[in-house]
Amino acid sequence: MRYPKLREVKEAMVSLFSKPYTTSFPKGEFKPFKGFRGKPVVDEDNCVGCETCANVCPPGAITFKDDLQTGLRTISRDYGKCIFCGKCEEHCITGKGVKLSDQIYDLACFDRSVLIETQQRELLICESCGAVITTKQHMQFIHEKLGAKAYASILNLNMLNQRLQLARAEDVTVTVKDGLKRKNAFNILCPNCNRNIQIENLR
Ligand code: SF4
Ligand code: SF4
Repeated sequence: MRYPKLREVKEAMVSLFSKPYTTSFPKGEFKPFKGFRGKPVVDEDNCVGCETCANVCPPGAITFKDDLQTGLRTISRDYGKCIFCGKCEEHCITGKGVKLSDQIYDLACFDRSVLIETQQRELLICESCGAVITTKQHMQFIHEKLGAKAYASILNLNMLNQRLQLARAEDVTVTVKDGLKRKNAFNILCPNCNRNIQIENLR
């Protein structure tokens, strides 16, 4: 039989009389250390549904689905896949849409489907080709960020027009059915249709 070395005996004695390194959770209260990264929590007022966090999430825990029938974007966050890296918080365009919290151990469960949370945001859809431009909240965020400069874009002007109800109610929901014409420049259009209108206007 081999006898332990002196170094190992010393380590055993030090460990015996030291406080445990691990936390006392779940017996005692969980006290997170500074900079602890737990479950990302969404701020409903500051998440505009822009897709940025889904693009930077390494394990693909954040996904988006656009439904043209309901006009809604559904953002799903699967905390069963989340690795708590903090990339979503770091790259959030509003800086406040999602923040990592102290919650982590209470995420343990037997049914992983309960770890999926969703948010919904209203889509901004091109009135000519039906393509998804982004969400209305995303565009409003851009307006606020750019201030008066935002209205250099005709899309922004048209959105303001809709919001302030400057046009007659029946004009506000015009759907372009008979091909793009000059008058359609005052509808909500995606960049492709907008470009076609500008070319049309030059003729
Ligand atoms: S606003 Fe922030 S949290 Fe919301 S979708 Fe965009 S990046 Fe993600
Ligand atoms: S913390 Fe990382 S893994 Fe978790 S949702 Fe955010 S980006 Fe994805």
